[in-house]
Amino acid sequence: MYLKSLEIQGFKSFPDRTLLQFGSDCTAIVGPNGSGKSNISDAISWVLGEQSTRALRGAKMEDVIFGGTEKRNQMGFAQVTLVIDNTEHIFPTREEAEVAVTRRYYRSGESEYYINKQSVRLKDVNELFMDTGMGREGYSIIGQGQIDKILSGKPEERRELFDEAAGIVKFKRRKATTIKKLQDEQGNLVRVTDILSELTRQLSPLERQSETARIYLAKRDTLRELDVNSFLLENEE
Ligand code: ATP
Repeated sequence: MYLKSLEIQGFKSFPDRTLLQFGSDCTAIVGPNGSGKSNISDAISWVLGEQSTRALRGAKMEDVIFGGTEKRNQMGFAQVTLVIDNTEHIFPTREEAEVAVTRRYYRSGESEYYINKQSVRLKDVNELFMDTGMGREGYSIIGQGQIDKILSGKPEERRELFDEAAGIVKFKRRKATTIKKLQDEQGNLVRVTDILSELTRQLSPLERQSETARIYLAKRDTLRELDVNSFLLENEE
């Protein structure tokens, strides 16, 4: 995967619009301690949909917005756009030669996501990156100390990493959603069976009642006929 550029504005230590263009030969970003190198990888995780404030090294989501310095006021929102090359169709669902993903977050707590300038939901961003190894649970961003965590982590956590690399996460998620739907339907089926057995229980008394009603109606008609006849006879006499 080739990251073409990253545009950061109002995010952490980048108050001004900053455009980082990664040539195809860019392998590292260097700088003194505290100069904001990790903020760049935070910006990448963030634009990919990271929701954990801990993973973004903050206490609350608002901490990603430039908080101001002695000389500069704080900003009202943070915005990051990541442009990824798609000439080799690493995003099979997208036709475009490049895919730009944007995330914007306001101090009011409002979030916006865009794919190629079109407003989308977080779910769409997650789905876009699923199985590319770059998603929220991807393995493409490995922070300091994380290698240890991977090696000493639980087998299930390691499994997630391999699943993502094997490209089966999308199918596993679909399977989970389908199983959930199936369970819901099973619940509905139990309810329908309950109702059916209740109705079946009511069926034979209703059958008896309907037979009685039918006999009543027939007898009522006969009575009416006999009444008319007896009236006519009386009249004749
Ligand atoms: P190191 O080499 O020590 O890991 P680094 O180059 O990776 O450092 P970062 O950790 O990315 O640096 O950047 C830390 C700097 O970002 C700090 O100076 C911190 O004050 C600043 N910073 C983080 N969040 C904000 C914010 N919301 N507003 C303003 N500045 C911020």
